[in-house]
Amino acid sequence: MIFSLGSRILSTVDPQCLAKIAWNFGFKGARSVLLFQKRMKQGVYFPPFLYLSILNSCNLRCQGCWVDVEAPRNAIDLDTLNRTVNNAREHGNAFFGILGGEPFMHPELLDFLAQHPDCYFQVFTNGQLITEKTAKALRQLGNATPLVSVEGTSTVSDERRGKVDVLNRTLRGLQNCLDQKLLTGVATSLCKSNIDDLLTVEWLQKLIDMGVHYTWYHTYRPVGPKICSELALTPQQITQVRKFVTSQRAKMPIAIVDAYYDHNGQALCPMATGISHHVAPTGAIEPCPIIQFATENIKDERGIYETFTSSAFLKDFRETAAQHTRGCIVLERPDLVKALATKHGAKDTTVRQTAIAELDSMTPRSSQWVEEEIPEKHWMYALAKRFFYHDFGVYQGLKAKPPVTK
Ligand code: SF4
Repeated sequence: MIFSLGSRILSTVDPQCLAKIAWNFGFKGARSVLLFQKRMKQGVYFPPFLYLSILNSCNLRCQGCWVDVEAPRNAIDLDTLNRTVNNAREHGNAFFGILGGEPFMHPELLDFLAQHPDCYFQVFTNGQLITEKTAKALRQLGNATPLVSVEGTSTVSDERRGKVDVLNRTLRGLQNCLDQKLLTGVATSLCKSNIDDLLTVEWLQKLIDMGVHYTWYHTYRPVGPKICSELALTPQQITQVRKFVTSQRAKMPIAIVDAYYDHNGQALCPMATGISHHVAPTGAIEPCPIIQFATENIKDERGIYETFTSSAFLKDFRETAAQHTRGCIVLERPDLVKALATKHGAKDTTVRQTAIAELDSMTPRSSQWVEEEIPEKHWMYALAKRFFYHDFGVYQGLKAKPPVTK
């Protein structure tokens, strides 16, 4: 698998992009995790991976979306984005996730990327606004990988994303990325309506035949103003996803990303481990994208390092989550999320101002923390996770067992 995946990437990705992937993401990304661990030992938490939602606007209307896409535009301005990245870089960070809304609707996105040639950015996009011209500009910059979301067959895509001809428009943007030899990924939020079509060897082979280099299977989070809980996977399906991912990683020449398990197959929450936190389009600093509460903002005078490392709110969220579950505190214990937000007098960061009501409407359900723990089958993933992506010891106090719910 490694040889065929490696030669595929080396022969289909622009050399300058390859160099930035290897150095900015590979070397400096790994170093930022080691620095994170070193700080943790001194009780200082600053995430090596920051996820920035640079605006709320989007051209699609997806089921289960928690972003205020209907609301007037909130976008983080270029100066604030630059100040944030520069301050994080001063503390060893090099990798940033760029989300929205739809990031390519932000008029300053390419200028922003251009001003940080020594960093690496993963742009979470529906791909529909990636024209040939935009893809060419990304190639010249070399420091960003588009992660294009595909949510199903043509019919399911229209249904899932609330528009027409969604899949064709997305595939056009995806093809522009591949034609410009960008390192390109495809993400799917697995749910009941697409798991049979997209959690298959046939779909992985189709991605490989298209020239896609990596894929990321998220699991659908039934949250937000229209939760569509009927789409959520069962614990058995969550286990099925884990089994599929670990077995195909060892066979198929396509990289498969996940954020919810360590090398032994133990579940984890990136927020609870402190490896990542989220910034909303208003600049509000949130524990993670679906916890829409905050007590701090990146526009604070102190700068983000000081703001993050001194946040009692983030600290309490990490520790409370780690004391109660290895899974998702939002899905399993929405009551705890509400209690923490209330305790800290946290601001509802949504424009719709219904975050508490949405928590009240949720029925606790299982998440990535299921009975069966399935370790990595391929040594490369096992090694990478053993040293750079695990629970960093935050679950030592946890006594509970995986919740047995629907
Ligand atoms: S709280 Fe849930 S959605 Fe947020 S990072 Fe943790 S597992 Fe993911």
